[in-house]
Amino acid sequence: MSDQNKENPFIELVNGLLEKMPPDFEEWVKKNIIFVYPKRNENLAHKISKHEAEPFEAIICLFDQLLTKEKGCQERVVLHELAHVKLGHKTPIDENMNQKQEVEAQDLAYCWWTEAQNRERMRKLDNEIGQKS
Ligand SMILES: [Zn+2]
Repeated sequence: MSDQNKENPFIELVNGLLEKMPPDFEEWVKKNIIFVYPKRNENLAHKISKHEAEPFEAIICLFDQLLTKEKGCQERVVLHELAHVKLGHKTPIDENMNQKQEVEAQDLAYCWWTEAQNRERMRKLDNEIGQKS
């Protein structure tokens, strides 16, 4: 990734999300997933070469329209896509398989999201306790 990506709102989104997740989760994401941010109608091949993509298990494309949504919503979309990868989902061959995979990904994303929320709440409580004692 080049330096110009430092102010990329997608990078900010992904990094912000990973900060809320356990270290081993972040490690797994960085090792296995490459995020690309193609413009609408832009060919993916212009964004990433086969060679660049090779060491990764999956490519996740994030599109501009995601940024129009509320922050929590953006993070949940990313978690949903990560869940598909974690669950080893393949391109569905029919609607049944599609439905099943969508439900599974949504459930896992929901678990991750809930855990992240709880961790954040715990951290805040811990801070409060720390300040009072
Ligand atoms: Zn999905």
